[in-house]
Amino acid sequence: MDIRELQRLDAAHHLHPFNDNAALARRGTRILTRGEGCYVWDAEGNRLLDAFAGLWCVNIGYGRRELAEAAARQMEQLAYYNSFFQCTTEPTIRLAAKLAELAPGDINHAFFVNSGSEANDTIFRLVRHFWAVQGKPEKKAFIARHNGYHGTTVAGASLGGMKAMHGQGGLPIPDIHHIDPPYWFGDGGDMDEDEYGLLAARRLEDRILELGPDRVAAFIGEPIMGAIGVYIPPRTYWPEVERICRKYDVLLVADEVICGFGRTGQWFGSQYFGFQPDVMPVAKGITSGYIPLGAALFSDRVARVLREAGGELAHGATYSGHPVCAAVALENLRIMEEERIVERAREEIAPYLARRWAELGEHRLVGQARIAGLVGALELVPDKPRRSFFPDRGRVGALCRDIALRNGLILRATWDTMLLSPPLVITPGQVDELFEKAWKTLNETA
Ligand code: PLP
Repeated sequence: MDIRELQRLDAAHHLHPFNDNAALARRGTRILTRGEGCYVWDAEGNRLLDAFAGLWCVNIGYGRRELAEAAARQMEQLAYYNSFFQCTTEPTIRLAAKLAELAPGDINHAFFVNSGSEANDTIFRLVRHFWAVQGKPEKKAFIARHNGYHGTTVAGASLGGMKAMHGQGGLPIPDIHHIDPPYWFGDGGDMDEDEYGLLAARRLEDRILELGPDRVAAFIGEPIMGAIGVYIPPRTYWPEVERICRKYDVLLVADEVICGFGRTGQWFGSQYFGFQPDVMPVAKGITSGYIPLGAALFSDRVARVLREAGGELAHGATYSGHPVCAAVALENLRIMEEERIVERAREEIAPYLARRWAELGEHRLVGQARIAGLVGALELVPDKPRRSFFPDRGRVGALCRDIALRNGLILRATWDTMLLSPPLVITPGQVDELFEKAWKTLNETA
């Protein structure tokens, strides 16, 4: 492999998502070539401990031959058929049934797409349709959170509360309203965390009352806000949000694209926090990132209306329920169940990881080390006791990320917060390696 030639071609022809493409062209992109377990190798031959599971997704780790074989088997048998025109395929049906078995409560119905973004786009349309066919077309406003992330389609990016994304393309689209997220470290001051959780949840009630409950279709939130910096809400937050949604008959959408399939040590983030959603977008961990797949999952109540009152569902993509993607997802879920990957992550890894993560929290550069299951963050600050932020936000985080890479560790940075999301199959020995590399990285960053 001629690395420089590939970098030249990349710079000339490939526009990268969420990158400063001009800066990347000057710097030269890193080309990944191979993965095994919790490690990836780049074209220069560096072995990197991937503490970010690709992009929060490689839950069962890299290099599982069974998934490749499941894809090959399905491709040979029937590479493609769609679920339009009164048809579908066996893996698609089996996956819908499997998701009904795994998802909490009466979330028993799946609409398949190709990504988390499309799942949220689907939800945006079908939730509005749900109310419209019941004679409530005016009940169409969505409430979401500032700095939330729900993907990159027009509806997904509008539901998200990322200012930079809104700035490009004239978003958000109308009737999406954002409230402040539960970010105790930056926003809670001296307040008790549980008390703060209730206060943050009641921002939702205030906004529903301001808009009028008859106008509000749904509230959407990530159980743990990932992309913005792993904001783990206080325990009081979600049950209070659920109470408010029920009181005003507002659908509760839990965006499980990151939290779903074991990230918190429970199958779904809503189970970790103890609340019951009506609607759940999922993606990423459903196939452990081996192949693109997303789904919008619906409760019995929502699906009944969509099935019985809705007439033709005028929505869908060529690859909705793609049989190869479904076969890979089924194999991924089979392995997760058979090897008790979620239970093992919860019982064996999460407590040990939490202990070592708290040790990193002792570092003078770390304002807060937060963690839930196998997702966490180190918030880097210039002045630990004062919880202040660096004036040029993002510079220290980028530096820390680059030093980590030189030390053989992949951590992602959002501004100056370092994010953690390793494969669920990480071992205690690899947790120690992660700790040592992260500690060295913090020392070299400080
Ligand atoms: N929702 C959440 C919570 C996410 O974190 C993401 C992606 O990171 C998405 C939706 C979008 O998923 P995708 O990138 O598969 O479109």
